Amino acid sequence: MTGRAYLVGAGPGGLGLMTIRAREVIESADVILYDQLPGEEILATLPRSAELIDCGKYGGNHTLEQHEIEALMVERVKEGKTVVRLKGGDPFLFGRGGEEMETLRAHGVPVEVVPGVTSAIAVPEMVGIPVTHRRYASTVTFITGHEDPAKPESALDWEVLSRLKGTLVILMGVKNLPKIAAALTAHGKDPATPVAVIERGLRPDQRVTVGTLADIADKARAADVRPPAVIVIGGVVGLYEG
Ligand code: SAH
Repeated sequence: MTGRAYLVGAGPGGLGLMTIRAREVIESADVILYDQLPGEEILATLPRSAELIDCGKYGGNHTLEQHEIEALMVERVKEGKTVVRLKGGDPFLFGRGGEEMETLRAHGVPVEVVPGVTSAIAVPEMVGIPVTHRRYASTVTFITGHEDPAKPESALDWEVLSRLKGTLVILMGVKNLPKIAAALTAHGKDPATPVAVIERGLRPDQRVTVGTLADIADKARAADVRPPAVIVIGGVVGLYEG
């Protein structure tokens, strides 16, 4: 077996925030498995000489199931190919990159991980919201908003999360935003805590909606906020100047 696999972070959107290593690895690829999260600017530059496999869109509606993506990667590597799995942001933050690494390893496939600039930090940052700040937040917690907070079997402990004084950054949280805001306030987080929702960060049609835990669900509904978006909760949101 001469093939190998790379789990590559494409960054939060735009060629400028992709690493040189990511670019090198993409140029060397025989096969690239991608989804829409890296954005058009990056996807348009993928080498046409490689086999380009669209693994689906964000927000459900996958063209390939996760197990099919992993099986395809293993198969192509075993054919001796250099395989790149290109993922938005950083490959190991909520992108199932960890699972892909496990599967590849289980099949004896050599894997290199290429870290990427994560949207969880860069998207707020690019609108002037630092996720930590000496005056406002000494911790930052990254949370998946994919899980319904109302589910009793949730892996997330909203009681604990509501007590954290630092910044909360929620990915994949647009659909559950009303429930998330309600869960945090129900467990005692101040309803006046500022919240920013940044849609399509670093894209030409980026949009920011700001509010508080008390009113962000209504504001997001009124603005018809859609994924992908990064939700930031905490005092640092006060630094946003619009
Ligand atoms: N591994 C990725 C995150 C994958 S989960 C990373 O490190 O960035 C997918 C979620 O990332 C989306 O639902 C959204 O919450 C967030 N996201 C990724 N890129 C984004 C962008 N350009 N603008 C807003 N949100 C983005």
